[in-house]
Amino acid sequence: MLPTEPKSQDRLSVAEEHTSTVWPNGIVPYYITPNAFTPNEIRIIERSMQVFHAKTCVRFVPRTPDTPYYVQITNRPAGCYASVGRVQDNNQNVMNLQAPGCLAGGTPMHEMMHILGFLHEVSRPDRDDYIYVNRSALEPRYQTDSFYRNNFAKYERDIETYNIDYNYGSIMHYTRYAGARDRKYPVLVNLCSGQLYRSESAEVGRRVKNYDSRYQQQPAHELGFGYYYQGDIMLPTEPKGQDRLSVAEEYTSTVWPNGIVPYYFAPNSFSPNEIFTIERAMQVFHAKTCVRFVPRRLETPYYVQITNRPTGCYSFIGRSLNNSQNLMNLQTPACLTGGTPMHEMMHVLGFFHEVSRPDRDDYIYVNRSALIPKFQTDTFYESNLAKYDQFVETYNIGYNYGSVMHYSRYAGASDRRYPVLVNRNPYDKPDFGNNTLSPSDIEGIKFRYCRNASGIYRLNWLQQIPTTVLGSRPV
Ligand SMILES: [Zn+2]
Ligand SMILES: [Zn+2]
Repeated sequence: MLPTEPKSQDRLSVAEEHTSTVWPNGIVPYYITPNAFTPNEIRIIERSMQVFHAKTCVRFVPRTPDTPYYVQITNRPAGCYASVGRVQDNNQNVMNLQAPGCLAGGTPMHEMMHILGFLHEVSRPDRDDYIYVNRSALEPRYQTDSFYRNNFAKYERDIETYNIDYNYGSIMHYTRYAGARDRKYPVLVNLCSGQLYRSESAEVGRRVKNYDSRYQQQPAHELGFGYYYQGDIMLPTEPKGQDRLSVAEEYTSTVWPNGIVPYYFAPNSFSPNEIFTIERAMQVFHAKTCVRFVPRRLETPYYVQITNRPTGCYSFIGRSLNNSQNLMNLQTPACLTGGTPMHEMMHVLGFFHEVSRPDRDDYIYVNRSALIPKFQTDTFYESNLAKYDQFVETYNIGYNYGSVMHYSRYAGASDRRYPVLVNRNPYDKPDFGNNTLSPSDIEGIKFRYCRNASGIYRLNWLQQIPTTVLGSRPV
């Protein structure tokens, strides 16, 4: 419930505690409208208050005659609503709990959170990183801009998150079906199992555009953390479409048959010099392994399209049967520096990052407290720094700090003085990773691509990864 005179509170500043929307000393006097509720209903309301008392310093106390401001708790036939924070006009300190509906579930506590000054979780400035609002799933009469502004807009300012992570499980979070026309189609979609890591990011493009390899020692393909899966991996948009593939179907797998990877440069995307740089990286594979990158021919059904979109460095993992998902983006010039082209080509061949290995905890300590604060979430960790305990093949090759697939020490770090990845075994190079294929990378390619017909390939890693590993979480 919004105050009828919003202007009258504009003068309040955060510092003016006694005139602010904060209840002084965490004490919230309340007054239950006489004859509005049964004794049993009052018990339900007070039991919700006691949860606040048990877990926080906040105290809901019956008002006394000298209390100037208090919440009036009403049972009008008008739904569940409350004012947000303490209001100076005491008539507007109201919490309406229409019995019995508004006394069910978390609703009384939800309304009490409003009384304490809290807004809905989807109003947070960072909610677009976590939630996609599917407006077309709303009831038709709600599909207006004004409805959206009043109900689903986020606040870019004048709101405090206290550096607490976005939480799908907050009592202040809407359900998936808030305003939905049909329960088959959620209005709120959690991005970790939806769009996130499946679409291009202009923000990463801006970072890569400003990248200067002379001063930024991190490889360009690490600039996508928080936007692309593990920083530079594009997940398939239709994971279900590949579920039919079985491990035995070699020719429909994510392995490029016979180690031949047809490629195609998006027209007018690269200068001749840039094409030379990319093809030089391919020649390292040719020189050291049986893999061959070859220009596609017209009859080639599957080929990697190499693009130069302003969206960073990334590629899909392995061959996809949906050719639009055989794509490697190398934003010039940053993504052509260092080992980045070879690193992305390794993804195209089906390789993940070295820290994803099941045995990586024996070699690497992940110092989560050195991450940028907004990356210090379980969701970020699961999507970027988790190891795979199954469904990946190491070919019995030892862990290698110098793999071209190894993150740098400072991947996602907030401060270059404090590495995120710390080697547990001695390693004398200044940083992990490589500018070219390391002996173990070559070994891995040979195991995956260069064995004779009786060799048994392990296929379809990505399809078999359980969604929990991919970062979705129960909501
Ligand atoms: Zn609410
Ligand atoms: Zn990568």
